[in-house]
This record gives sequence, structure tokens and C-alpha cells, in this order.
Amino acid sequence: MIKVNNSLINAQEVDITQIPVVSDDTLELEADIKSEIFYRLLEAHRLAKINVQMGNITNRGFATYVCTNKNVWSLGTNFNNTRNDISSVCGERSAILSAYNHALVSYMKNPQNGFDFKIKYLCMSSNIDINEYYDFIVPCEDCLSWLNTNRCFDEDTTIFSFVRKEDGILKISATKLVKLLPYRTVKTSNFYCADKKIKITKFANDSLAKFAITNDLIKTMLLKTYEAYKNNSLTKISGQNIAASMLFDDEILTFSKLDWTKRWFVEPLEYICAQAMHKTEGKLQIKAICYFGDEYNNSDIKDGVVSVKTLGRIRQKHASSDTVLILNLENEILVTTIGEYLPKKFVQGYKI
Ligand SMILES: [Zn+2]
Repeated sequence: MIKVNNSLINAQEVDITQIPVVSDDTLELEADIKSEIFYRLLEAHRLAKINVQMGNITNRGFATYVCTNKNVWSLGTNFNNTRNDISSVCGERSAILSAYNHALVSYMKNPQNGFDFKIKYLCMSSNIDINEYYDFIVPCEDCLSWLNTNRCFDEDTTIFSFVRKEDGILKISATKLVKLLPYRTVKTSNFYCADKKIKITKFANDSLAKFAITNDLIKTMLLKTYEAYKNNSLTKISGQNIAASMLFDDEILTFSKLDWTKRWFVEPLEYICAQAMHKTEGKLQIKAICYFGDEYNNSDIKDGVVSVKTLGRIRQKHASSDTVLILNLENEILVTTIGEYLPKKFVQGYKI
């Protein structure tokens, strides 16, 4: 049993070899790497505390140490300058930016060493006293939108945090980033025809029965979404077209993406959910979502999938793990659930 008396523990007094590592994966951590992870988590915890003491406006502190595949470590904390999300950056994104800039500067000085930027580890801590840690910490959906790309992350990227779940003993939790991300194998498509094959997963079948959604209703949603997608002329700046429909009560709302600039746009699913929130005076319960995203041919960029950022907002209250998700894929229509699409976020119920 490890005794940890307060959040500013003297790491030298802790026998790190005795600290268990908990993981869904069969993850073997060599002793020196485990020790390094422990110290980095502790240092990040200290920074998160200081961030709150220095007046971070959310009164919540998070900090992350990231390690690149070149074994460069960078630390970052959450920066909440106003209550607007555009002026906020989470700890992990802050650390990633620091690491990215470091890698670019290194390349600028020594181009002969090449530029190969991948994040190997994210060590995430919060300001919560180390005696009171309970659940493991994972990135929020805004961060997952960032992390959902092969450019800077890969199948081995691992997230560590302290955890004390159930028995109260301090442990290191290890989770592969891919476990938190949406389906990695599906490819969205912009081709649709009325006789396209529809595949319904077992979980989705249960949800269709629960919400009384018929095959005809699925086809109506597909058609409405496709029409909105096909007729959308407002995405010429980014070249990325998206359309979404949502079923709530007995109503279907549909909208397509519109660009302000190349990277500023109105995300259609968030827009129609906001409209439905007003209509239902905040009592919105989403039964089904249909989503058409642009096909992507570049395997490094995963921006054709359902907006993880929007799913993060609606899952707080208005969607559930059994909300039906209808996706237009290359060779078929896939009817699945949000719980299957973004499983871990629903299982662990992490609140932003
Ligand atoms: Zn975040």
C-alpha cells in the first residue's frame, strides 16, 4: 500500500514499482518508463494546481505532459481567458502546441535530422488533490476532434493519468487514444442512391424498436439529408460539404454546412440540435441522427466523420448511448448507435 499524504508528495518517498498500472490493453511498461510517467503526472498535477491558484477563470486546472516519438517532453496547462470557448485551450492541446512548436524550431535549426512529429504519450493530471483522484482523466471532445487525425497521433499513442477507482489505492491508468476515438475503419461517402444497401447493427436494432423508428423513417431521413447535401452551395470556400438530419419527437430537422471562411463554418448537426433545443424549451431528446460527410481520400486527415465536438455537446443531456446514428458509407448505409460510434465516452460518463 502506497502512502500518499498530500498533493505535493515527495516523489522520492514513493516506491513507484509498487504502483499498479491499470489498462484495457495488455500494456507492458518498463520500469524506467513507468517511473518517468509517474514523475511527469506529478509535475503536471502541480502545474494544474498552480494554474487554479493563479486565477484560471473556470477554477479548474488541468495539465498535460506530452512526449513525442523523439522523446521530447512538453508541458501545457488549460488556458481559460474568458467564458468563450474560442479563447480557451485545454491542457492537452496546450502541451501539443508547445511540443509542435519545439519540433518545428528543432527542424529549423537542424533540418538534417528531419521532421517527424508524432505524440507517443499524453500524461494528464488535474488540480484535484492527489488523495481524492477517483476516475481517470481523458481528453474532452473538443480535444478529441484535434486528436482524431493520423498526422500527429497513431495507434500506439497512449494516455496516462492517476486513478484511485474502487479500492482507493493510487494507480496509473493507461488508455490507448484510439479507444476514445470514433470508428476508424469506416469511410464516409458522398455517393447515395435509393437502393443502397442498409446494414443495421444489433444495438441499433434495439434502439430502432425503442424509438419506434421504421425503415421508411430511416429512408426519409436519408433522402432529406441527401437533398440538403446535394443542393448545398455554401461550402465553396472549404470544399468540405456536410449535411445532417435529426429526429426528435415526430419531427425531422435538416441542415447543411455553411462556410464563413476556410476554417470557420456552421456545423449542421450542432445548428439543428440548437434549434430543437429552443423548440422543446431545453427538453430535447434526440432519437436519431443522419450524417453525410465528404469522402476523404487522404488517410492522414479524418475530417469526414461525424463531428466529435458536436457529439460532446449533445451527449451531455440530449442524446444517449442508444441514439441511432445513420451514416452514408462507401458501399452501404450503416445504422449504428452513438454508443457504438464513440463508445468509451459514454461508458465512463466523463463530464466536460
Ligand atoms: Zn479538452
